[in-house]
Amino acid sequence: MFYHSFHGLKLSALGFGGSRLPRNGPSDRDVDEAETVRMADCALDGGINYFDTAWGYHGGCSESVLGRVLKRYSRDSFYLADKFPGYDLPNMSRVREIFPEQLRRCQVDYFDFYLIHNVCEADIDTYLDPQYGILDYLLEQKRLGRIRHLGFSAHGALPVMERFLEVYGPHMEFGQIQLNWLDWELQDARGKVALLERYHLPVWVMEPVRGGRLARLAPEDEAELRRLRPDESIPAWSFRFLQSLPQVAVILSGMSSLEQLQDNLRTFRAARPLSAGEEETLLSIARRMTAGVPCTACRYCTSHCPRELDIPALLMLYNDYIFSNGGLLVPRAVQSLPPEKRPSACAACRSCEQICPQQIQIADVLADFAGKLAP
Ligand code: SF4
Ligand code: SF4
Repeated sequence: MFYHSFHGLKLSALGFGGSRLPRNGPSDRDVDEAETVRMADCALDGGINYFDTAWGYHGGCSESVLGRVLKRYSRDSFYLADKFPGYDLPNMSRVREIFPEQLRRCQVDYFDFYLIHNVCEADIDTYLDPQYGILDYLLEQKRLGRIRHLGFSAHGALPVMERFLEVYGPHMEFGQIQLNWLDWELQDARGKVALLERYHLPVWVMEPVRGGRLARLAPEDEAELRRLRPDESIPAWSFRFLQSLPQVAVILSGMSSLEQLQDNLRTFRAARPLSAGEEETLLSIARRMTAGVPCTACRYCTSHCPRELDIPALLMLYNDYIFSNGGLLVPRAVQSLPPEKRPSACAACRSCEQICPQQIQIADVLADFAGKLAP
C-alpha cells in the first residue's frame, strides 16, 4: 500500500467503501457481518486505514456494521468517514438529531472525516439555505473535536459544485467526486478536478470503476490494453488512471467480496501511473464507448440561441443519458432546470446549427432528449 499526506496524516491511497458491503440475503440491509469482519481484517492487514460509510448505505446498516467491526481495533488504527444525508431533503432540518445518532451507530466519539453528502442539482438550493444551519452546526462539531476534517461529496454538474464552493469553499478540506476514465470527459470530471484545485482541495474519488462497468470491456478494447501492459488486469487500468492524477489522495472502492479486496490490494502495492500514450489510449476507448453527440463545448452556439439554452451542457447530459440508459441523475439534473432552460424549450430555429463546427443537428438531438425525458 502507498499513502498520501493530508494535514499530517498518512492516508492509504485505497479506501474501504461501505456502500456495497457483502450481503447474505435479498435485502440491501442483509449485510454479511462475518464476511465484513474478514474483509476489514484483510484491509487493515493490507495497509488500508480509511473506511467510509454513510447514513443511507444499506438502509443504515453500513454504519452500524462497520461500527461493530471496527470496534475490534484501537481507534487510532483507522480513519472513519461519515456523511450528512441532506440529499434526502426532509433530513435538512435534522442535522442536530442525525449527527449524534451517527456517532452512536458507529460507536465512536468523533469522525476523522465528515462530508456533506451528494451535493447535486436537486439539493443545492437547500444546502445553501442558511435557515437549516447545517454548516454552522458542523463547524461547531469540528470545534468540539467530533469532526476532525470537513469535506463534501458531489454528483452534481460543474455549475452546482461552483455554487456550493462559493459558500462552503473556505470551510472545506477535501472534495469527493465521481472520477474515472470514462467520466473524465463524459461528466467533465476533468473540469471538476480543476475546480477543486482552484480551491486547493485534494480529491477523494468515488466510483473509480463506475460501479464495475469499467471492469469488463469489449474484447478488442481489452486486447488493446493487454498489448500495452500484459500483466495488468482490466479493472486495474481504472486505478492506474487515477494514480496518474496528482490531485487524487484517496480512491474509495465499494468492495463486496474478499476476492475483490485482495485484487485491489495487489493493484495498490505500488503506484504505476499511465504514460501519456497509455492515457490517450484509455480516453480513446472511453470516447468510443460513449460515442454520442460530438460536442466539444466550444460554446460558439450559445450566443446564437434565442432561448439562451446552455446547449453544450444539455448535450453533455444527453450523452450521459444515452450511455447510462437513462439512470437517475440525468433526469434529476434536467428536472432541476427551470422549464425554459430544458431541452423541451428548444424552438427548433436551428440558428445554433449554422455556427456549430461539429455540424451537430442540435435541434433534433434536443427534441429526441425531450421526448426521452417526457413522462
Ligand atoms: S435550435 Fe434550439 S437550441 Fe438551437 S438556437 Fe434554436 S432554440 Fe436554441
Ligand atoms: S457549437 Fe457545437 S460543438 Fe460547440 S458547444 Fe455548441 S454544440 Fe457543442
